[in-house]
Amino acid sequence: MKYSPIKNYINGKFTDALGDRKMDLVSPIDGNALSTVPMSSYKDLDDAVKAAKKAFETWSRIPIKERVQVFFKYKTLLEKNIQSLAELCSEENGKTIGESLAEIEKCIELTEFATSLPQLVSGEVLEVSRGVECRTEHVPLGVVASIVPFNFPSMVPNWTIPNAIALGNCMIIKPSEKVPLSCGKLAELLKEAGLPDGVFNIVHGDVEVVEAICDHPGIQAVSFVGSTRVAKIVYQRCAQNLKRCLALGGAKNHLMVLPDAKADMTAQNVAASMSGCAGQRCMAASAMVGVGNVDHIIDKICEEARKIIPGKNLGAVINKESQEKIEKYITEAEQQGARILVDGRNTKVAGKEKGTYVGPTVIDQVTPDMAVAKEEIFGPVISIMRTQTVDEALAIENANPYGNAASVFTQNGGMARYIIDHASAGMIGVNVGVPVPREPFSFGGWNESKFGVGDITGKSSIEFWTKLKKSTTKWNPEAGINWMS
Ligand code: NAD
Repeated sequence: MKYSPIKNYINGKFTDALGDRKMDLVSPIDGNALSTVPMSSYKDLDDAVKAAKKAFETWSRIPIKERVQVFFKYKTLLEKNIQSLAELCSEENGKTIGESLAEIEKCIELTEFATSLPQLVSGEVLEVSRGVECRTEHVPLGVVASIVPFNFPSMVPNWTIPNAIALGNCMIIKPSEKVPLSCGKLAELLKEAGLPDGVFNIVHGDVEVVEAICDHPGIQAVSFVGSTRVAKIVYQRCAQNLKRCLALGGAKNHLMVLPDAKADMTAQNVAASMSGCAGQRCMAASAMVGVGNVDHIIDKICEEARKIIPGKNLGAVINKESQEKIEKYITEAEQQGARILVDGRNTKVAGKEKGTYVGPTVIDQVTPDMAVAKEEIFGPVISIMRTQTVDEALAIENANPYGNAASVFTQNGGMARYIIDHASAGMIGVNVGVPVPREPFSFGGWNESKFGVGDITGKSSIEFWTKLKKSTTKWNPEAGINWMS
């Protein structure tokens, strides 16, 4: 076991969970044992809520310009520790070190945004009638929770930590039980940056803790990022408890490739989008619709895919179960008549035989009714469908229940604009394979890729992590004059 058993982090201290239930943690890279993760209970969560509630009394009263000083320091610490954070991220998640470094760079950008919140969060004030002033203020909610998935062990936590805390809330995070190590390191850095004890807490676990978070009366708001199946459960359970919730779900992102697209650039973007982070990105290209004759581009996509070497510039998928599920999708598509142009099944990396790898896979002649066309595969696989017109391509894109991202590859500006207007997704790319909006633009999909109002990052997150106080004041009141006068 490389690391000592993982602990919760409550009130500034790493503490053992109360129960005995735990899970083994192994690295997807080579199957080596890393640690054990505790499966916490309602009582563990309750301890964290009590600590956070106490910390909120002080933290929420500190002016925001002072609160963000912690995040200026935290940003510097992320920069200083980028290599060790990236190594930990790769070890527990399986992604390449380059991908992990990019993930930490994104954490730095997210933190930079949080330091700008004092400039963005000011309310409004207006003299609404003689001597009468109305004012709005963004007020923190209290104790909030963030439930996160396995695919970005540091970045998704940092979608919520800096903004929610800088805005005056105290947070409990529930990391994915598949990648629990990175959050512990983030807690250490936040403490080193000067964050008071109790403002940030970690409770590890699985369904039991998630249900406790949804039910606990001391938690005011819950953000969730993960699969659509669980996003629905969490959103509905929070609503039942009359709790504010923003739940981001899964994705099936369509790339529409037009015959006039620049072939080399398109092929590189498609291959990078479908295989980056081993396809385990909610922004990954998962389905491609070739409009008209794009055979020359598909040939180049295959060439690019063959340059991607598992264990070198392609990481592992999270575990055996995921590896088997991805391979099953490929086999089923083959049995249904699709053509496997590049086959990533049965991939082994020398010296890392227990690692869980799937090579890049390009599937052509997919029809819209096949599972590989409709469902989230979450592996380095692209399913290619063909249409004669852009409208047919859009009909396929619109019919999928998700709506995270869509992209078009073309040199025709009018056609690109038409696709921006008609694709049913929250984030659209033009000649961009992974159209993640960078700060200060917010991140969030549509349809079954997101439940709740607003987005999780950027300015939009201010509305989620605060409530609006409206005050109406009149000084020097005079008798006999109506305040509305
Ligand atoms: P997941 O839904 O299995 O798990 C997410 C979180 O929910 C974890 O913390 C997990 O412990 C918890 N959980 C799992 N099953 C649960 C249940 N039955 N009840 C309550 N809680 C439960 O997701 P994952 O496999 O960790 O992550 C991959 C998924 O996340 C993909 O679908 C991906 O598209 C999605 N994702 C979406 C976004 C986005 O921005 N929309 C970003 C990243 C990942």
